[in-house]
Amino acid sequence: AEQQFTVYAAPVEGGASVLAVISDISRMKRLEQMRSEFVGNVTHELKTPLTSIRASIELLKSSGRDAKTRAYFYEVLDMEAERLQHLIDDMLVLSRLENMRQDTAAQPISVEETVRDSVERLSMTAAKHQISVEFHVDPTLLVCCAPMRLEQLFTNLIENAVKYNHPGGKVEITGAPQHEIAVIKVRDTGIGIAPEHIPRLFERFYRVDASRSREIGGTGLGLSIVKHIAVLYGGDISVESKVGAGSVFTVRLPLASAEHTGKA
Ligand code: ADP
Repeated sequence: AEQQFTVYAAPVEGGASVLAVISDISRMKRLEQMRSEFVGNVTHELKTPLTSIRASIELLKSSGRDAKTRAYFYEVLDMEAERLQHLIDDMLVLSRLENMRQDTAAQPISVEETVRDSVERLSMTAAKHQISVEFHVDPTLLVCCAPMRLEQLFTNLIENAVKYNHPGGKVEITGAPQHEIAVIKVRDTGIGIAPEHIPRLFERFYRVDASRSREIGGTGLGLSIVKHIAVLYGGDISVESKVGAGSVFTVRLPLASAEHTGKA
């Protein structure tokens, strides 16, 4: 309603203004559509595990199940509860990021150390998928971020590089300064992404293959979180990919050193 008021209050003189009004209305319609799409997605994502949880409880309640069957349904309960937990955690992170203009917790931090922490955190997942992970990051590379958020950015990208890979595949993370920018690349030898999916990849809940992604434990929010973090710290993210050959995600963040020398 606020926006509508602004539109009507604007002087409508020539054709250009009329066009502006029309494009503003279509922008509002698009926003409204995105909002309702989001609510629809969230509902669906919450309902799927919940349905499975309720079915398992029903089956556990009925008598005559042997110990093995019961153990199986407890396992399902555990998995689905974990999935709900991830989804809720990711939604909270995303909503916090969306309401943030600036991060007061930002401080100069080492990219190499943060990448090292993320790689260590994912070492079990990588081993499980038989993926080798290597990193070559300039040890002097500093960016100005909240440590927790930068680690989340790398963890999400590296986890995807591991998950959407083939057994025996590789993941390589590189980081080097280029002018005033830290350029960090996460490269994988995985399944790749077809060009038609690339423009929508960073949207909330967008997945190339929803059933596959769910099966391997994704919420569909990971890349959207990554993009918000990069943008929050004045950076951006892009991707290049080839189906069957692999993908390269490139994150650019302003160097902390440049910013701080500038101020000193
Ligand atoms: P998810 O939780 O489904 O992994 P993301 O937002 O992290 O959600 O990623 C969105 C989709 O992008 C994934 O479902 C997957 O289809 C695709 N994707 C992300 N990273 C890669 C990658 N490294 N290689 C191939 N596909 C990827």
